[in-house]
Amino acid sequence: MLPRYCEVALPVPLRSTFTYAVPPALDGELLVGRRVVVPFGRRAMIGVGLSESDRPPDIPRVKEIAELMDSLPALPPKLIELGHWISRYYLAPVGETFRAMLPPEIELRHDREYSLTDCGRAYLRELAAAEETTDVETIELDFLRRFDKKDSSVPSVRVRRWPGGEAAAEKFVRLGYLSARDVLRHRKARMQQIVAWRPGTAELLADAAEKRIREVLTSTRGPLPLALLLEKAGASRAVVRRLEKSGMLATWEEPLTPGEDPWDTDFVPPANVLNAEQKEALAEIWRWLVAGEFAAGLIHGVTGSGKTEVYLGAIEAALSRGKTAIVLVPEIALTLWVGRLVRARFGEGVAVLHSGLPDIERAREWWRVRRGEAKVVVGTRSAVFAPLENLGLIIVDEEQESAYKQEETPRYNGRDTAVYRARLEGAAVLLGSATPSLETYHNARAGKYHLLKLTSRVENRPLAEVRIVDLREDFRRQHRAAPISEALRAAIALRLEERTQAMVLINRRGYSWSLLCRSCGAMVQCQNCSIALTYHKSRQRLECHYCGFSIRPPKQCPKCRAEYMYFVGDGAERVDEYLREQFPAARVARLDRDTVRTKREFQQVLGAFAKGELDVLVGTQMVAKGHDFERVTLVGVVAADLALGRPDFRAAERTFQLLTQVAGRAGRGQLAGEVLVETYYPEHYAIQHAAQQDYVSFYDKEAHFRRVLHYPPFTALATVLVRDRKVENAIRWSRALAGYFAPFEKQGVKILGPAAAPLARLRRDYRFQFVLKSPHRSALGKALAGALDFCTAKEIPETAVLVDVDPTNLS
Ligand code: ADP
Ligand code: ZN
Repeated sequence: MLPRYCEVALPVPLRSTFTYAVPPALDGELLVGRRVVVPFGRRAMIGVGLSESDRPPDIPRVKEIAELMDSLPALPPKLIELGHWISRYYLAPVGETFRAMLPPEIELRHDREYSLTDCGRAYLRELAAAEETTDVETIELDFLRRFDKKDSSVPSVRVRRWPGGEAAAEKFVRLGYLSARDVLRHRKARMQQIVAWRPGTAELLADAAEKRIREVLTSTRGPLPLALLLEKAGASRAVVRRLEKSGMLATWEEPLTPGEDPWDTDFVPPANVLNAEQKEALAEIWRWLVAGEFAAGLIHGVTGSGKTEVYLGAIEAALSRGKTAIVLVPEIALTLWVGRLVRARFGEGVAVLHSGLPDIERAREWWRVRRGEAKVVVGTRSAVFAPLENLGLIIVDEEQESAYKQEETPRYNGRDTAVYRARLEGAAVLLGSATPSLETYHNARAGKYHLLKLTSRVENRPLAEVRIVDLREDFRRQHRAAPISEALRAAIALRLEERTQAMVLINRRGYSWSLLCRSCGAMVQCQNCSIALTYHKSRQRLECHYCGFSIRPPKQCPKCRAEYMYFVGDGAERVDEYLREQFPAARVARLDRDTVRTKREFQQVLGAFAKGELDVLVGTQMVAKGHDFERVTLVGVVAADLALGRPDFRAAERTFQLLTQVAGRAGRGQLAGEVLVETYYPEHYAIQHAAQQDYVSFYDKEAHFRRVLHYPPFTALATVLVRDRKVENAIRWSRALAGYFAPFEKQGVKILGPAAAPLARLRRDYRFQFVLKSPHRSALGKALAGALDFCTAKEIPETAVLVDVDPTNLS
């Protein structure tokens, strides 16, 4: 038999795969798509087999594959193809690309269970009855006897300890005497202890440890699993027990993986009868699915037009054709809303996959999908890699969202990957939005995508009235700087009076954007990044939102030593505080990454708001999407034009999308809604068209600018970032690259840079950037692929050069 070799993708930031020899023990095993354990340097690493060959590689000593992780290939062939495409198109290292597609590496493995077949039982009887047996037969008899129990199977962990082990069992499987079944090695539903502070208990705390426990449980975190509490409070188990005894703590048990979520079980899905437009859209999708080949469509539906209902119908259509489906949503929070609806409709066969799940839970869901136990997957970006076979449909909700773009290697766009995967699998892909990205709408106009339209809100509810508040005027009249305009304050007061609800959106976290020295004009900057630190009042810290660096706000200017420091720019925390000051009787809550950290907290706040237990909800864009709040009659957007000031070709598009999205939140129930948009540029077309909720006019204007200025969708765009701790290196390498790129100008690739990147320093690295544009994607691709080879040749480290194809922003 020829020796075999296997190409393995390993999670290292290198562009190559690695060759390993296949040991005799793995003879006959299919290795493509399998997770394997291999020696790498001095450690073991988990990778995935990509291809096999019997030609020895051109290297001196080939190491052997140590072990197979699972009995089932983790990646079906189409996903391997998809991975290669991602790695090529986005110029991402192969190993890191495939790592993004695999389940989390935890000690949760597939196991096999063996049981005796009828044929095996007959053979066993024959052997037992024989008067004389050979040695081999005696061994076989001995072995097979161990399986001879009624209706039970033997896990491979046990078989492994028997003479002959798994290899013998596998031989009998091939002979048909044993059957094998893959199962997830079972863990009992493990319980954990949750500890909470009892409200209103006597607070005579004996020592510092007790105080820390109270602090953690009351002001910073809320109820916690015991182990985490001990860690956070730096306290011992004995202290907790003491407090529990004196009645200050409440404890209870919860399963480690919450199986039954009241969020889901208490939910009654709406029973909607599709309206004419929804029916028409669905009929079209049915036609694609019946045709059973690749089709791409955009469903452009105004906010509140009932797109979700069409999605559900489309999934049903796919399932009824015996196919599977993926639903992508842009944020973890949305998997809650959408996941719940989908599960209510399709039950157990639905899996939810997102990066917010604990590894063990994600792995379990992942394998459930892989084994075909779930046929519908709801998830965020990476769920586009869900290991479903027989895929019929991918839905990408809110396809315009930049969250679909992964901002680390592999820098893929989940939406575009969905379209490519659908093409590979001969499936249909449905992109949904009220405010499609320029790229997608352009494709729909050009006839590349079918265009489905939902032009009116369900039950003909009117779109909310949008009022623009000119902040310049507001300031002239008020002569004081409050964090929100007088108009918005008055509108909220009105809602409080009529007992309806208001949402206030502010797209900045923290209390103040920065701390400025009045004397020298310097802002307090991050030590590691060229960015002003954000002030968080509750924590009394200045923090960097990029690298996490934080300091106490200095009394003196770090540059000129003057003592005239003042805070500028109001963030969500300040708006929250202001509303509480202005309306002390109102129930105000804030929803952003500072106030909610877990899914549970998120559900709590939104649940309370939905039930009418809150009057005003302040938040970052987290609040802008998702659920219907029937009693919301006002949505205020504070400083709506924040994004417009950014040096980014998508600034207008982002502003338009955000405002339209937010406007869609008001007036979704029986009550009419109003939207207040605060801005310094009331004439800007993004703001004007958003106020009129007129997507097509906005598209036409924006498309015109993009065409003239050579930006997507009319030009293929990529950025190349060169970074290093040492500024000299970053400069030297970018100069070298500039020399390499220059000749491509003649081949129709426009090269801008190198220039200091908009974020010129990030996490201590100095950053220089090229922007490459070309009307021809292939020319661009050639320049980029060659650039990486050039770097290798010049010994520029691979990690120092970041290529971003189709970037969503230019920083
Ligand atoms: P979109 O995503 O288009 O903004 P949704 O899908 O969230 O809109 O639907 C908005 C609301 O309309 C939801 O509460 C949904 O239950 C409801 N709805 C959807 N279709 C219908 C219908 N045909 N009749 C009545 N209500 C509907
Ligand atoms: Zn920083």
